Amino acid sequence: MEIKKIGVVGAGAMGNGIAQMAAQIGCEVVMRDIKDEFVQRGIKSIDRFLARSVEKGKMEAAEKDAILGRIKGTTDLSLLKDVDFVIEAVIENLELKRSVFRELDELCSPEVILASNTSSMSLTEIAAATKRPEKVCGMHFFNPAPLMRLVEIIRGYSTNDETVKTTTELAKKMGKVTVEVKKDSPGFIVNRIMIPHMLEAIKIVEEGIASIEDVDTAVKNGLNYPMGPFELMDLTGIDIAYFVAEYFYKELNKESKWVSPNLLKTMIRANKLGRKTGGGWYEYSK
Ligand code: NAD
Repeated sequence: MEIKKIGVVGAGAMGNGIAQMAAQIGCEVVMRDIKDEFVQRGIKSIDRFLARSVEKGKMEAAEKDAILGRIKGTTDLSLLKDVDFVIEAVIENLELKRSVFRELDELCSPEVILASNTSSMSLTEIAAATKRPEKVCGMHFFNPAPLMRLVEIIRGYSTNDETVKTTTELAKKMGKVTVEVKKDSPGFIVNRIMIPHMLEAIKIVEEGIASIEDVDTAVKNGLNYPMGPFELMDLTGIDIAYFVAEYFYKELNKESKWVSPNLLKTMIRANKLGRKTGGGWYEYSK
């Protein structure tokens, strides 16, 4: 089936970036969130991103208008009933994702692939909420989605080859580099590697070994990473790092290396979540 219309569930940091890319490859897009203000915030964010591309001379103003014209924001999930492909990007909560997939399964025609942008969670468990587990897979974009090159394509227990092929082709059409995660395992590839280094960075600060700024400076200059772990968490959401670490602890044999440092829990309790509040580690360090 040719993919002409894409449904995106969630208009937050990831959802709006994904909707933008879907529209940039010429698809009609229906982007759904639960409140109109969240939908409008998502549309504004796309508008801002595209306006910068026009300012930099990378895009004509008419193209920007055409891309925005292909994106319909809504709070009404039923408008996704005739889409050809769905990408879910609601918050990282398994029960919420399962209930969204249950609803999508009822709504969308049976041949439609339902992909999740989950950062860590079991595609098998998400797929089990549907009657089409062979058509459910992970399609894990990175933040900011329009700029980061990688998409991890993840198989759940029942995901079939056709689903992996179609999802990979769609990601490639969006200009992405893809990797296939052959087994449904928490955090897939990148987050399984990234979360321990974030937790270790927090422990270094908690133990008074170095400051937040110096940890970031060390990682950027000593490992040649473009961002330090604290800058990265402030961008991607401190809550996401916490949810993923907690999920790893539960799923990966309760190994002590996945235990969240107290300082991370304090940031969550204080609602210093990075991108969501404009706060984050650099505010804490002042
Ligand atoms: P976010 O909090 O910015 O956005 C999530 C959005 O989902 C919110 O606007 C919320 O209102 C909406 N939502 C909640 N329930 C909904 C429902 N039933 N229907 C429609 N919308 C609903 O979160 P985010 O950073 O965009 O993360 C979304 C997903 O992408 C998560 O699974 C996360 O783990 C994953 N992810 C995040 C990053 C990152 O760096 N932030 C990177 C890769 C993957």
